[in-house]
Parts: sequence; C-alpha cells; structure tokens
Amino acid sequence: MTTTLPTPPKIGMVSLGCPKALVDSERILTKLRADGYQLSGDYADADVVLVNTCGFLDSAKEESLEAIGEAIAENGRVIVTGCMGNEADVIRARFPDVLAVTGPHQYEAVVGAVHEAAPPVPSPFLDLVPEAGLKLTPRHYSYLKISEGCNHRCAFCIIPSIRGDLASRRPDAILREAEKLVAAGTRELLVISQDTSAYGLDLRHQSWPWKGGEVRAHMTDLARELGRLGTADRPVWVRLHYVYPYPHVDQVIPLMADGLVTPYLDIPFQHASPKVLKAMRRPANDAKVLERIRAWRAIAPDLAIRSSFVVGFPGETEADFQYLLDWLDEAQLDRVGAFRFEPVEGAAANALPDPVPEEVKEERYQRLMDKTAAISAAKLKARIGRTLPVIIDEVDEEGGANGRSQADAPEIDGQVLLRDAAGLKPGDIVPVLIEDADAHDLFGVPSGPAI
Ligand code: SF4
Repeated sequence: MTTTLPTPPKIGMVSLGCPKALVDSERILTKLRADGYQLSGDYADADVVLVNTCGFLDSAKEESLEAIGEAIAENGRVIVTGCMGNEADVIRARFPDVLAVTGPHQYEAVVGAVHEAAPPVPSPFLDLVPEAGLKLTPRHYSYLKISEGCNHRCAFCIIPSIRGDLASRRPDAILREAEKLVAAGTRELLVISQDTSAYGLDLRHQSWPWKGGEVRAHMTDLARELGRLGTADRPVWVRLHYVYPYPHVDQVIPLMADGLVTPYLDIPFQHASPKVLKAMRRPANDAKVLERIRAWRAIAPDLAIRSSFVVGFPGETEADFQYLLDWLDEAQLDRVGAFRFEPVEGAAANALPDPVPEEVKEERYQRLMDKTAAISAAKLKARIGRTLPVIIDEVDEEGGANGRSQADAPEIDGQVLLRDAAGLKPGDIVPVLIEDADAHDLFGVPSGPAI
C-alpha cells in the first residue's frame, strides 16, 4: 500500500513598508515554511492571506488599508500584522471580517493566528520539525531554516519533487534573523534544512558583508557566526540538524571543541550497509564514516550524534541488517530514531524489487530499537557524577524543572529532570550535577547559578 501525502495549507503574503518590516515578513514566512506551510503567489490559491502593514505616515496607513481591502475582496481570509496592527480598532471598523490583527514584531501571535486559521497538516515524510514542535516553539529556542529543497534524489524521498533543488538563503539574512531571535530571548538556535552540509552550494559559497567583515554562504562560516551571537555571560546554543558527513563537516568539530557550536550532530544515516545505501542513493555514502566519527570524538569528546534509520528497505537482507547492527555497535550513536520502510506516493523506491515482508520489518525494527536503547542507556549512565550545562524548558510548582543537556534537541531527544530547581525559568542555562539516568533521560540537581 502506498502512503498518500497530505496537501499543506498555502499562505499568501502582502508585505508593505520599510526594510525592517520586510525582515519581519521574511521571519514569519521562514517560521511558517518550517512548520510545513507552502507559499502562494496569488490570492485565489491561498488558504489565508497575511498582510504585513506599515503605519508610519497617513499615506502608508491608507496604502495598508487598501491592501487589506484588496485581500479581503480577493480571498476573504485575512490576517493583519505589522505597524498598523497597533490600530486594530481602525482596521476592524473598516474590515470587520479580518480573522486576526497582531502588532509589529508579534511573531508568535501572527504565526499562532495562521495555525488557527489554516492548521498545518503534519507529515513525517515532509516535515523538518517534529510534529510536537509544530506548536509554537517557546521563546527560548527557535528553528532557523537556512535553505529549502535538495539536490539529492534518494530513492525513498519525494522532497526534491515537491520542494525543488537546493535554494540557500543569504547568510547575512539568516544571521540578521538569528540576531533578532537572540535579542527576543532565544538561547538555542536549531539550524534546519533538508541538507545542512550542502548549504551555500547553489550560491557558490559567495561572501556577503557581515559586521565589518565577510561571511561565506558555507556551513562552517554560518555555524561560527551563529555561535558568536552568544557571549560568555549569555551563551547561545547552536544545534545543527540534517548534516550529511561530507568532508567539510570535519571543520565544524573544532568549533564545537571551542564552545562556539553545540557538540551535537543530527546525521540521518538511514542505513550502514553499502549495498542498501547504494540502492537508497544516499549522499555522502562513505565507508570511512566510522573512522571519521572516532576522529571527531577525539577532538570534541562530548559530541552527541543523533541519527535515523530505515529498516526493511526493498532488498534489505538479514546480512544487510546484521551489518547495520554491528555498525551501530561501533558507532555508539547517542540517539537513534527508526522507521519501517513505507512506500510514499511518487518515490522511486516503490518500483524496487524484493519488498521486505511486514513481519520481518517489524522484527528488525524491534531489534534495532533494543540495540540503540541499550547503547543510549550505557552512554547516559556514564554521565552520572558529571556536571553538565542544562537549558531549562519548563518549571513546575513543586520546585522541579525539565531541561535538556547539549546532547538533547527539543522534542526528539531525552530530557534532564531536575529537583530543587526553584527560581529557575525557561531559557536559563544552569550547571547540573547528574545524579541518575535511565534509558533515555537524566536526573540531577542544579549546582551553580543560572546564566
Ligand atoms: S538528502 Fe535525500 S532524503 Fe534528504 S531531502 Fe534530499 S533527497 Fe530527500
């Protein structure tokens, strides 16, 4: 049976006003793209239209009101944001049907209004952000999308046919957005794309002026400059997702050792058997990857590697699967997610011979999960007695708190559960003495002041 994909809601955007308003629009759209929305170039095709207004001069206000009127007439489902949002009464008096009015820089409110007007349709085959993360991310961590699309053609994936080839954002635009996020309280930037290591290839890794110097459209430069947005008093964690192990990934490991970039790599290996990887048409399918993981850990010993794997890909034999289990014994990955292969409408893999029976997929899935849970449990146990920086996500009324170590991305990895955490607040980064561990989470107590 082939899985049919949901159609994501489409957003239309009319952006008026100064360059600052344009950056706001870009930021709102980036967030909506990260949440799985598509953009629409015309009114008729959009499920909802956002009008980012300007209220600086009377003429600009009139232009904004006209734009709202046009969007109402052409589409009918309109959300207003931006500077004129401060005059919600004026807008509502003239256009009682607008769905929501939010003011300037109220990103969370406007994205929330879009979620309400046209709820996103989660799809594990398309989303970069986990389903639980589709709710508005708390202010202290933010997803930062650096590119769209992908140049690879993995046999099980339909992303390139839907999102097109790699299209990277300019590094200065990404850094400006990140700077604003940090100014608004973000302590952790989650860098996402379909292929983070390929960032800037389409821009020929050109340089742009940035803070009196230059920044290349390249993963290494971008990661370094993002890390520099933090200070010793107020560090900002920079977490890299969807990294393929191309040779230049070696260059970001020293940045992790220096504390500029969080020692964490999310590398979707998907398999280890060379035969299956070839059939999957995976990029950076290098037999030497185990050696490189060892070399990375020699430089950044706390490096946590997260990955995902597909079991039961067409043609996967017991020997291929055993190869994967043995490889995992060597690789000692910190966090692993697994999927049973599923044919997705439009994927090239659907035509491959030798499908794996469902019960075999299930059995392999269980064996993989047992193996990776045992590796995770041993790795977490080794942290007992250490003091680790922890970012606080939630505090409760009984003096407890939930947070995450640098090895844990929100929504997909484990947690650090704290006792005696009164006085802490979400976004604080605090040293925590680790007292206990289970297969997925750590338990501890704050051992110093929060920063
Ligand atoms: S690298 Fe492969 S799996 Fe990832 S988006 Fe590109 S084609 Fe799809």
